[in-house]
Amino acid sequence: MRDAYAPPCGVGACTGLHRSDDTPVTKRKTVFLRLILGCAIAIGAVRTSAAQARFAVEAAAGVDASTRAHVERLVEAGLARLTPMFPGTPKRSCVVTAHQSVDSLPPEVRASLHEGTAGVALLGRSEIHLILDESRHHPPHDLRTVVDHELVHILLDQFVGEAAPHVSRWFHEGLAQELSGGPYIGMSEDDLVIAARADRLFRFAELDQDFPGDRSGLRRAYAQSFSFVGFLRRRFGLDALLEAARQSTADGGFRAGFVAVTHGAMLHQVDEWREYVLTGSGAPLRFLMRNCFSFLVVIGFPLLAIAVIRRFRRDDAARRKLEFEERVEHADERHHD
Ligand SMILES: [Zn+2]
Repeated sequence: MRDAYAPPCGVGACTGLHRSDDTPVTKRKTVFLRLILGCAIAIGAVRTSAAQARFAVEAAAGVDASTRAHVERLVEAGLARLTPMFPGTPKRSCVVTAHQSVDSLPPEVRASLHEGTAGVALLGRSEIHLILDESRHHPPHDLRTVVDHELVHILLDQFVGEAAPHVSRWFHEGLAQELSGGPYIGMSEDDLVIAARADRLFRFAELDQDFPGDRSGLRRAYAQSFSFVGFLRRRFGLDALLEAARQSTADGGFRAGFVAVTHGAMLHQVDEWREYVLTGSGAPLRFLMRNCFSFLVVIGFPLLAIAVIRRFRRDDAARRKLEFEERVEHADERHHD
């Protein structure tokens, strides 16, 4: 493959590379790779700073400068990682505001917020609001995951352009969780096994516009979206899913775009995903392992009780034997006295 290598015009001249070296091709290649790497870093830096310039980070009252700077770094890192997945973004500017608590949120945002929410993206206004008190130390509830999650919402919204109002809510939430690295509100894919067995999964058409208001339904909707979008991504790839999102329609939402891009029925994918959750995801085994302590306690309790009773009886017999021997010894001592 080394023979096939051909540096582009100007590389040698620009670097002053000496070609009389013992291994000229290798050296040219090394320099070429360095240049490519340098260019990639430079392009990446330009893209990141351009993206960063469109995302202003503000601090609400009560948030100090170092916290604001920390959030700014998280936004910068999130943009550097995520914008390459959404070519052409960011298209519009966005304001990220860090709030210490819900108290400083705009009233209309606060009124519609679910309890325990650590971040919210307002797509129409290109705003992200982070609630620091609600974030935790560990993923997926740490601030980095929350920032990435909300950035995905904004970038997806900008990427799909005019189709933005038609992208199904479940796809938005599923992709935000998939690309930020974890399910959002405390329900794991494993819990879906129970819902699937009990036939309690939502139809995705039910989650096109909005998510349920009750806590249990909300958690199930998030987990279901996360699992299904991850399943679709592994099958079709991110680019196909983003193209499907871009072709979402007012009537069919993401489903219509999916059919247009893949020429396959969404219902078929839903059936296969449900089967995957029940049998192929490893979730049933993980569920069993997670609860094995409880199962062991239930199974092991009678055995433990029997063992304790036997031990008690053994101890009691030993105690009586010891008392008997002491009485005999005392009797002997009295006899000898
Ligand atoms: Zn979300």
